[in-house]
Amino acid sequence: MHTFNVHGVAASSGIAIGKVQVVSNAFLEVQHYKIKKADLDNEKNRLSQAIALVKKDLKNIKKDINQKSSSDFSSFIDIHLMMLEDKNFSFYPQEIIKSEQCNAEWAIKTQLDLVISKFDAIDDPYIKERKLDVTQVAERLIKILLGHQHKKNAQKNPFSTILVAHDISPADALQFKNHNYAAFITEHGGTNSHTAILARGLAIPSIVAVKNARKLIKNNDLVIVDGDSGLAIINPNDQILKEYEYKKNLWEVEYKKLLKIKNVKSTTLNNHVISLMANIEDLGDIKSVLESKAAGVGLFRTEFLFMNRDDLPGEEEQFETYKSIALSMKSKPVVIRTLDSGADKATAADTIQATNPALGLRAIRLCLSHPHFFLIQLKAILRASAFGNIKILIPMLSSLGELKQVKMLIKRAKDNLLSDAINFDKNIEVGGMIEIPAVAINAEAFARDLDFLSIGTNDLIQYTLAIDRTDDSVSHLYNALHPAVLKLISNTINAGKKYGKEVAICGEMAGDPKLTKLLIGMGLTNFSMHPASILAVKKKILESDSSKLKNHAIKLLRLSDAEKIETLIQKINQ
Ligand code: PEP
Ligand code: MG
Repeated sequence: MHTFNVHGVAASSGIAIGKVQVVSNAFLEVQHYKIKKADLDNEKNRLSQAIALVKKDLKNIKKDINQKSSSDFSSFIDIHLMMLEDKNFSFYPQEIIKSEQCNAEWAIKTQLDLVISKFDAIDDPYIKERKLDVTQVAERLIKILLGHQHKKNAQKNPFSTILVAHDISPADALQFKNHNYAAFITEHGGTNSHTAILARGLAIPSIVAVKNARKLIKNNDLVIVDGDSGLAIINPNDQILKEYEYKKNLWEVEYKKLLKIKNVKSTTLNNHVISLMANIEDLGDIKSVLESKAAGVGLFRTEFLFMNRDDLPGEEEQFETYKSIALSMKSKPVVIRTLDSGADKATAADTIQATNPALGLRAIRLCLSHPHFFLIQLKAILRASAFGNIKILIPMLSSLGELKQVKMLIKRAKDNLLSDAINFDKNIEVGGMIEIPAVAINAEAFARDLDFLSIGTNDLIQYTLAIDRTDDSVSHLYNALHPAVLKLISNTINAGKKYGKEVAICGEMAGDPKLTKLLIGMGLTNFSMHPASILAVKKKILESDSSKLKNHAIKLLRLSDAEKIETLIQKINQ
């Protein structure tokens, strides 16, 4: 077989060797397999059950929507319910299963293709809209059907499937947490896109921005993914395979060595305690947080609670999640960031299509424009604060005016709870994400008015350098070590010091061991990262002398040439 290499942007380190599964869109990709005659009734039953489940889900969503009185959305659900009754879903796919002896997903996809080709032949805007509806209904059904099938596959063949996709949305990547993929290769995406962040969190080697990956790599190709160099080797010969098996082994040995410092306290050589916290996306992450011995949760990205659904989580649902996390972490701090929806983390909460989503009505702007909805989240967080050490973190603040509005709404949420005699932490701390350059420049004012600061370097770099963090065509320009970025970080750390407020970094820079010493030298004492990165960062901390590093950092902050900065960092790390 022909051996060849493809290159992309290294997004998550490690080496994986496995067989490829190519998908177009993560969920509508359907595999075809034969069903034995004796199992055909079971397969038809599986489809009927999935239809019933989708109907039940839709009816629940409709009930919820009706309570919140949005008639538009409700009638849109009625259309989907009607479609499920239609022969296109209730009859023909069953016939296809029987006549073609195929799986239910394939039958739905076959019928969908037929309906769409009929719709395409008619030039009518109304029909065009129905095309979207019928696709969404099919997608829902396939998701439900695949939900069961994927888990089965994962158990049969763990850690050996490499997913090759055009792109993986954060919502899809979240679902992959249960699927044990060995590696991801995508055609699209930047190193700090949320997809890459999730891959790092899962410790799955990943390469993004591999142009034409789906044309070049075929299903069942054997592939080596080197997540450190961004190289994928397709159909390697025996010699290359052995070389990479050896490298993979070395990698695993290194990781095992790191495990030895798991219970060692995170202090520098000159006895400064550095707090290593964990970033999480859902309750399921708590297991790895506890295993990593993190000092707490430094960032809970609550928007992931709002993904993969059409409705919004209510106060009770949110409260139960926050409470479970607080209880699992015992008295350790849990920083809950309010909804940071929008841009590449689209959720059901996003109401409008922004012309430039990264600069649009996202995160706290979205919440402040829907105060009633924001109050639901604030009340849920406050109620959970009675069960642990919870702090509130506000994303994407850009002005003190916004902060004032946030504080008013927190007060209103507290007053509501007080009048209902519901318990909460009266002194709950409120912190702000520093991820917009304007705020980092003006950090002192925010340090004065907030209880703590958390620097979101992923967005801070994006907005400082005007580089879309998800756009692979400019990812070579996305540079955490740009002197302007470093100055903004330093300014924020110093502002925190001046007002005696804790400053953390919760962006990806915190989890990059190459930057640990520099950040310690800049005075950072609180790092929050995916649990998978904690040990490698801790190793660097144990080798650091913060007073010596401070001098290096002072020198480095005077440099304006990115190359010289790189060289000095290498020296610091030697
Ligand atoms: C950041 O911007 O650095 C951050 C931590 O937030 P997110 O990656 O979720 O935008
Ligand atoms: Mg951010």
